[in-house]
Amino acid sequence: MDRRETKLIDTVDRLGDQIVDFTMRLVAEPSTLSSEAGATAIMAVELERLGFSVVKIPLAGDTARSHPGFAPVPWSLDDRFNVVTTRAADRCGGRSALFNGHLDVVHAGNPERWTRDPYVPTIIDGWLYGRGAGDMKAGVAAMTYAVHAVDKAGFGLAAPVTIEAVIEEECSGNGAVACLAEGYDGEAVLIPEPFGPTILTDQLGVLWFKVGLSGRSTHVLQARSGVNAIEKCFPLIAALRGLEAELNEEAPPPAYAGLVHPINLNVGIIEGGDWPSTVPAEAAFHGRLSFYPGVRYERISRRIEETVRQAAAEDEWLRDNPPVVTFYGFRSEGHSLPRDLPAFSLLDGCHRSLTGRSAESYISTCTTDLRAFHHFGTGQPTCYGPVAENIHGVDERVAIDSIIQVARTYALFLARWCLLAE
Ligand SMILES: [Zn+2]
Repeated sequence: MDRRETKLIDTVDRLGDQIVDFTMRLVAEPSTLSSEAGATAIMAVELERLGFSVVKIPLAGDTARSHPGFAPVPWSLDDRFNVVTTRAADRCGGRSALFNGHLDVVHAGNPERWTRDPYVPTIIDGWLYGRGAGDMKAGVAAMTYAVHAVDKAGFGLAAPVTIEAVIEEECSGNGAVACLAEGYDGEAVLIPEPFGPTILTDQLGVLWFKVGLSGRSTHVLQARSGVNAIEKCFPLIAALRGLEAELNEEAPPPAYAGLVHPINLNVGIIEGGDWPSTVPAEAAFHGRLSFYPGVRYERISRRIEETVRQAAAEDEWLRDNPPVVTFYGFRSEGHSLPRDLPAFSLLDGCHRSLTGRSAESYISTCTTDLRAFHHFGTGQPTCYGPVAENIHGVDERVAIDSIIQVARTYALFLARWCLLAE
């Protein structure tokens, strides 16, 4: 590292306490689906405090809704926003960068199962606990302060840098799509998802679906004349497990060849019934199924429909009362990128300068907002983020030193990719 880079990294280190404090303020906001306003407000205030001018990007706008990457959802998009800022270049000559992070979190589940309140951020032995601490409010804080450190150290940049904090990453990807639809993009796109300090090259596609079905309601004393809609879900779920097994048996793309069971079905919600002594007349289950890069989501949605149709055909009741399959939220396709793209190599060089070794590659079995940038943007997108445990689980936590490490690497990336302007 040269003299200016060393000064920049020292500046990041001096901002360490502020990075952790900002993370904690974000974690204290329970920003689950449709409740993101508190977290986005804190993000906007912080950006303004650091001297950035903030733009709010609505998810409900026509520009977002008409984008080919937009996923239909059954909930309201009204009054829900991303927060974006672009730091203008001080001179030309560098390459532009965009940092994307999501502020939405998944539900914490029963708080009784947590050791501490999921929305009271707590530091113990170098770990910060709380829902969203790792996934991915720490990353949002790190990327924000990496850009701030450039200004704080007294440097300019030779290319524009965008910071975008989005919502709906955990359900549809519509937040990132809304920003792209408004033209926010970068030649390098970095997302600090909590997969550790690795360079993500591949991610799977993910599709969400719902299967609704009807039974016939009766009192349990006439249970044999009723049809239990909840129990009619079971053979359909079993058939979808069969589809999952089939997909895992298909020849994988090279990146996934070494992984055991890369394709996963999750039945995440089951609903139905209203009384222990009433045979339930309606039931539904919601699922998530992944698929390999290179496969269109329409092909998987057809296979889900066909699987449900065939299973229903084997059941006397379901044959005449066919289940209804609907798709909402994620309809995300996967992608694979070479590890030696210029932005990835440069990021690896930054990691090596700071740690003395190369960053590992990461092959993801889930989806991230990278999809939007890969399929609809122009830049080279990857994830590089902090070390977290139990994301989407109980007692989620993120390693504090890894948050600072991400900020250091990102700051160095800005110096070498966008180039410093003194
Ligand atoms: Zn995430």
